[in-house]
Amino acid sequence: MEQAVPTPQSFDRVLSSMCTRPHPAAREAAERFLATNPGDPDTYRAVAALENDVVGVLGEITGLAEPHGYVASGGTEANIQAVRAARNRAATDDPNVVAPESVHFSFHKAADVLGVDLRTAPVDADGRAAPDAMATLADADTVAVVGVAGTTEYGRVDPIPALAELAADVDALCHVDAAWGGFALPFTDRDWDWNFAHAPIDTLTIDPHKLGRAAVPAGGFLARDSTTMDALAVETPYLESMSQATLTGTRSGAGVASAAAALDALWPDGYREAYERAQDNADWVATAFADRGFDVVDPVLPLVAVDVPTALFDALTERGWRLSRTACGELRLVCMPHVTREMLAAFLDDLDDCRRSA
Ligand SMILES: *Cc1c(COP(=O)(O)O)cnc(C)c1O
Repeated sequence: MEQAVPTPQSFDRVLSSMCTRPHPAAREAAERFLATNPGDPDTYRAVAALENDVVGVLGEITGLAEPHGYVASGGTEANIQAVRAARNRAATDDPNVVAPESVHFSFHKAADVLGVDLRTAPVDADGRAAPDAMATLADADTVAVVGVAGTTEYGRVDPIPALAELAADVDALCHVDAAWGGFALPFTDRDWDWNFAHAPIDTLTIDPHKLGRAAVPAGGFLARDSTTMDALAVETPYLESMSQATLTGTRSGAGVASAAAALDALWPDGYREAYERAQDNADWVATAFADRGFDVVDPVLPLVAVDVPTALFDALTERGWRLSRTACGELRLVCMPHVTREMLAAFLDDLDDCRRSA
């Protein structure tokens, strides 16, 4: 008898994920480079060259002409590395990191593994970091001040220049987490200051495997100065290369090659088109919810949060929709590139149907 081949889920009803279908060129490149290890760059030179290309383009996207950094396993690793670099270069024995309470949960992991105290401050009424509230938590032991450019729950962009100023005041590094927002922000028509060109930030996270349409795993860690990388480097006696600044050792060449292929295919025009389509969809579905009388959080990036009753959320989940919630319990729709207008219309049809039969 023939064995059934396991197949992954379809994206047809996935409204909860920050990942998406890879670009076809990214998928193809991932397969081609499966058996490569950028963690040993002198042995695996072709993929190491691609990684340099990726870091260069990520620098272009984030306003940094001579970027340092690498393709990480994801935003979690990049954020851990930012905290690690900040801790390692500081003199204190009792390090703390100051962040808004909207930071991604990866910072809680970073604090845990690195023995750093994570201090989070309340956000303002619009869900953005409040620099004054953060300033009350910062002191001589603060090693990093963190801002988010595109929060995971509401897509909010923190006032990064004010946070960079706060970091400078306490001689800490300033890190920006643009893991999800980084591939959308260059194309928005608001004049948000979020990247290396806009403020004296030190490090930044931007993930090709989210809006960048690379295959998983492909995260991005970027640093303005080589000294940040030096703070992460350890000696590597058995490899051809002499030192390593990454957190993991053997790494996915598939992720690196797919990121290179996606950037090559999509930066900048493809990403602009994808962002514009996604934002139109987010605005459209937000209006559709508001017209039905729901409370909607204004989607400043392609991410919509809506207050829906638990029974309705559960009924939609039963119909196969993959949905997630914010910490406050709102329904959270991420308008990734696989989320089409037709898909959202079908979702709203189901929503109307569930409400009628409730
Ligand atoms: C998704 C996300 C992360 C974590 O990235 P992973 O690739 O899942 O490790 C970190 N920060 C933000 C803002 C995110 O949206």
